[in-house]
Amino acid sequence: MCGKAGLEPIVVATNLKEIGFDWEKLHIAQLAACMHFLGPKFSDVTYSADYSLAEDILRPTAWGNNYYVGTCISGGQVQAHYAGHEVSRYEKVKSIQKNGAFLDDIGVCYLDSTFGWNCGDCWKCIQTRIAMENDGDKVPNIFRKKPEIVSNIDATKIGKSTPAAIGMQQRTTELISYVDDPAIKEALIRLRKRAAKPARFSQRRKRRISIFALCVATILLWLCLK
Ligand SMILES: [Zn+2]
Repeated sequence: MCGKAGLEPIVVATNLKEIGFDWEKLHIAQLAACMHFLGPKFSDVTYSADYSLAEDILRPTAWGNNYYVGTCISGGQVQAHYAGHEVSRYEKVKSIQKNGAFLDDIGVCYLDSTFGWNCGDCWKCIQTRIAMENDGDKVPNIFRKKPEIVSNIDATKIGKSTPAAIGMQQRTTELISYVDDPAIKEALIRLRKRAAKPARFSQRRKRRISIFALCVATILLWLCLK
């Protein structure tokens, strides 16, 4: 992609994984570290927004890439810009699709390291396929597999963490507003309902709270009877 754009890539190595790093909640911190490390080379750095500004406002959980953090990481001589928050993910995909210059280089998926780019099965691949296929536009050959979309949506697993499940609800809500195919729309509504149910993480936490409450009640009862 850098070759096509006439840019020279800079590869940065890091040991962040070794010291324990919550990628989902802190990834913009890693990008900010790279930005300041390379500060003298640049005057301006642009971050690509994950979500629209409205989705960031409605998202009640911590997430590494968001408008508030992305606009507060400038420093020294480097000015950070947070770009793309004014449009939806669907509009971004359609814009890349219509531009066409980088269509064969799109990588939305990191689940399948054997293929390198897009597995075709995961939630990110499905969202991208739905957006690309909507309106009858030509879809580039960037997916290893192209399973039937409705059954694939129904087989999609809900994110284990609360932020992931909420992100899924936001993405499905966004897609539903664009999708023309009624069967895909219905499947997305079913997925959104499943994502809205308490995630496994919350149920586990509920069990822990119940055990803790039982222990406290037992101690209090023991103290009362003493
Ligand atoms: Zn994938």
